[in-house]
Amino acid sequence: MNRSFISVIAGGFGVEAGTVSDDTDYGEHREVTAEGVAELLSRARSVVITPGYGMAVAQAQYPVADLTRRLRERGVDVRFGIHPVAGRLPGHMNVLLAEAKVPYDIVLEMDEVNDDLADTDVVLVIGANDTVNPSASEDPTSPIAGMPVIRVWESADVVVFKRSMATGYAGVQNPLFFRENTAMLFGDAKDRVEDIIKAL
Ligand code: NDP
Repeated sequence: MNRSFISVIAGGFGVEAGTVSDDTDYGEHREVTAEGVAELLSRARSVVITPGYGMAVAQAQYPVADLTRRLRERGVDVRFGIHPVAGRLPGHMNVLLAEAKVPYDIVLEMDEVNDDLADTDVVLVIGANDTVNPSASEDPTSPIAGMPVIRVWESADVVVFKRSMATGYAGVQNPLFFRENTAMLFGDAKDRVEDIIKAL
C-alpha cells in the first residue's frame, strides 16, 4: 500500500487545530472516522496493535480480539506490541488479551516489534499514550526522556484511539498525535472498534 494513506483519507474529514495544555506549538492533528479506518485496514497487509491503559478502561479487548480474528481471516498479518509498563499493573495488557482469547503467539513484547515497525502498514494505538510518546527518545528535556517506547510512528500509518487530546499518566503531551502519518479516532475505544468491525 502507499506510504501514509492517512494523509489521503483523514484529509477528507478536515484538519483541526489541536488543544494542548502547555505552550508548545505542536501544530495540527488529523481526525479519521471508523469507516476511514476500516478502509485503511482493508488495504493493509501488516497491522500492529499497541494497547494501553485506555483499552482496560473501555474493556475494549473483546472487540479488539474480534477485529484481530476478522483481519487474520482476510490474510492480514496482525500482531500486538506490548510495552512493559502499559496499563497500570505488570502484565495488565497480557491478562486482558488472554481473557479475550487473543492467540499468545501474536502477542509480542516491545523489543520484539520495535525493529519491524518501519515495515508495518498500520499501527492501531488503543488507549495508549506515554508508552508510544516519541519525545521520550527525541526530546532530552521531556519529563519522560530516556524511557523506552514503542516506535509506532515508524509505520506507514498510525491510528490513535482515545477520547480527547488529554495527556496520559505522566501528564505530558504526545507529539505523536500531531505527526503527518497519524490520525485520531476519538471516542470510547470499545465503541470505536465495534464501529470499525461493522464497517469492514
Ligand atoms: P497512559 O496512562 O499514558 O494513557 C492512557 C490513555 O488512555 C489516556 O491518554 C486516555 O486518553 C486513554 N483512555 C482512557 N479511557 C479511554 C477509553 N474509554 N477509550 C479510549 N481511550 C481511553 O497509558 P499507557 O498504557 O500508554 O501508559 C501507562 C502509564 O502508566 C505509563 O506512564 C506508566 O509508567 C504508568 N504506570 C504503569 C504501571 C504498570 O505497572 N503498568 C504502574 C503505574 C504507572 P483520553 O482521556 O483522551 O481518552
